[in-house]
Amino acid sequence: MPSGARPARPGVGGAFRGAAGPGCDNGAMNERGPIESWLSDMDGVLVHEGHAIPGAAEFLDALRSSGKPFLVLTNNSIYTRRDLSARLGSLGLRVPAEAIFTSALATAAFLAGQRPEGSAYVIGEAGLTTALHEAGFVLTDLDPDYVVLGETRTYSFSQITRAIRLIEAGARFVATNPDPVGPSMEGSLPATGAVAAMITRATGVAPYFVGKPNPLMMRTALNVVGGHSESTAMVGDRMDTDVVAGVEAGLETILVLSGVTRSDEVERFPYRPSRVLDSIADVVPLVGA
Ligand SMILES: [Mg+2]
Repeated sequence: MPSGARPARPGVGGAFRGAAGPGCDNGAMNERGPIESWLSDMDGVLVHEGHAIPGAAEFLDALRSSGKPFLVLTNNSIYTRRDLSARLGSLGLRVPAEAIFTSALATAAFLAGQRPEGSAYVIGEAGLTTALHEAGFVLTDLDPDYVVLGETRTYSFSQITRAIRLIEAGARFVATNPDPVGPSMEGSLPATGAVAAMITRATGVAPYFVGKPNPLMMRTALNVVGGHSESTAMVGDRMDTDVVAGVEAGLETILVLSGVTRSDEVERFPYRPSRVLDSIADVVPLVGA
């Protein structure tokens, strides 16, 4: 059962009658104006296991020709936006670097607002170190304001030990995203949330997670596109990150079933997306609407 799921079927008594299923609309939620700007998750929506999902290229083409602002949002903090733009391009998906927003960028924006020209000890890859540098942070292991943990494929015992000692000495603990595992072609990989749990276990200090499902990521993205919550849609494949963060940020939410969520899992959650569609191909007609 997914986290946040309810053991009993909701809707008994009719409060949730007409729960969203594939192709169904949540009528009350759709009494909104037209969608003027778009946010979209990446994995499970536009790409899946190294392939473009059918309809993704058409969705991006429709956005471009509509002139509506959009951002591709990802909790992946390994890559810079230029890296991700190139990776998507190699799959036939044209997304300019400026239209990509990662949990690393959200974390850097958050920290720059909290403590301008602050300092951080970083465990992470270029996506995170570049974002923090560009936000005016100094990266150091000498008395930093923050320990910032992101995703990496080369976690080292000495780095984790250093992070633990700095937190014990008073550094604040921030992490890009809470995901415990990430996908790879060979199977699951331990991700930021799993390593954060190890540091928390050792220090007794829990991190502040900036990425999805923190609605801060959505609100920061809204500011980046210059959008308003009531006229912005979020497309995602996860109920417990994309949809809940979109709901909390006041967005229209569209769940697609091309990623990790099956249609029979949707109504187990205490929150619902505005729409449930099979894939991004079904979202294309909504772009011009
Ligand atoms: Mg996803």
